[in-house]
Amino acid sequence: MRILFLGTGAADWEDPGKHVNGGRRFTSQLLEESILLDCGPMTWEAIEEFGVDINKLTDVVIGHPHRDHFDVPVITRIALERDKSLPPLRLHVNQKATERVKLSPEAAARLEVFGFAPGDVFECNGFKFEAVLSNHLLEIAGELATFLCITTPANEHLFYALDGSWLPKEAWWKLRKMETPFDYIVWDMTCGTLDDWRLFEHCNLNMIATMTRVFKNYGVARKDAVVFASHVMKEACGDMERLRADVKAAGIVLAEDGLLYDSNAN
Ligand SMILES: [Zn+2]
Ligand SMILES: [Zn+2]
Repeated sequence: MRILFLGTGAADWEDPGKHVNGGRRFTSQLLEESILLDCGPMTWEAIEEFGVDINKLTDVVIGHPHRDHFDVPVITRIALERDKSLPPLRLHVNQKATERVKLSPEAAARLEVFGFAPGDVFECNGFKFEAVLSNHLLEIAGELATFLCITTPANEHLFYALDGSWLPKEAWWKLRKMETPFDYIVWDMTCGTLDDWRLFEHCNLNMIATMTRVFKNYGVARKDAVVFASHVMKEACGDMERLRADVKAAGIVLAEDGLLYDSNAN
């Protein structure tokens, strides 16, 4: 699996503009060069800074439609600036949130919009996505946040758990029934090592370390799964050296903007 972390911050970071300079943009990842996983208001600059070829993108998948993960103008810009000979870009977002996607006729010809709900399974360019309910509050009635269980074309399994806190029991039972354990996990670590009030809908390091152990104990993740921590709030990044060391000591990789992980290269 190839995953490029385009943005690894929670919603409290300021926009750094063209160069991230050791800061963090809002969360977004590129999978295998073709799937953009979350696309927020800072993602265009990340695409430019990290040299993403938008003509290789086929789908944009939004785990949950909060403003830091879901920005219609940026998604529309990508769709319009891709080569006109390519098929339209496909956007997958929570069913209720599709009502907020208002497109000009020109944009509607270059961007197809698909809604999904927790429990749904859908395919994108050889990837399979299964959405499971997350413990993360959305303010617009009817909109729901999901974690995503992703199977790549090479049959690798990734659990994408932004944003959210402890798994709802219904999500846990879904994962327990899956036949193949996860090879990779991307956890929400908004709170860093802080015991912060936000952990009622986000995580800190102790929580993701515990959940990783439970996943491994029950065969939901492989014993040698590669585990990333992302979506870190600025407030938790005071002493970065210390944070990096603490995350590493827990056997977890701290995602930072521009980090490329490629299992074929490792
Ligand atoms: Zn967020
Ligand atoms: Zn959120």
